Amino acid sequence: MSTYQLPDLPDDYAALEPAITGEILELHHSKHHATYVKGANDTLDKLDEARSKEQFGALVGLEKTLAFNLSGHVLHSIFWNNLSPDGGDRPDGELGSAIDEHFGSFDAFRKQLTTATATVQGSGWGVLAWEPLGKRLIVEQVYDHHGNVGIGSTPLLVFDAWEHAYYLQYRNVRPDYVEKLWDLVNWNDVAARLTAAKNA
Ligand code: MN
Repeated sequence: MSTYQLPDLPDDYAALEPAITGEILELHHSKHHATYVKGANDTLDKLDEARSKEQFGALVGLEKTLAFNLSGHVLHSIFWNNLSPDGGDRPDGELGSAIDEHFGSFDAFRKQLTTATATVQGSGWGVLAWEPLGKRLIVEQVYDHHGNVGIGSTPLLVFDAWEHAYYLQYRNVRPDYVEKLWDLVNWNDVAARLTAAKNA
């Protein structure tokens, strides 16, 4: 049995139209995310084989491949649940207060995460994360799926900045796609992730 499984989306592929077309969401989930799930499982199998044969010559490459695919699976599994056709606006409660405390204001936070997502060089993500050592929220600009991350931080809200997430619809204008993402954010999901991270 495989360790990792492709999760279902919370809604159908057309649920986020017109902000994100059903064509993009279907390709993104059934092809791109599925490839990361398979890559993580295949790499674990190769690591099993390497241990059983005591052949660790390819270990450095396998560990990089595991980090890439596993992180891709983790981030996409969060991304689908961060987005909702009923999303948007801004959070209140504990999450809203924490954003004010750690970023100064929601508007300042929004500008930072928007810019982090829009300016990733190559492929990556803009991420709002809980950092448990400092007990604070931070924005991370993630390269690929796993670079530029403070280890131990927990992603709460993730914006996919890979071209496969928007190019068929927004072409080269990534900032327009990022603006539309804000209208889809399911703050209840983000707030639940913050509570779970703080209690972990
Ligand atoms: Mn993606």
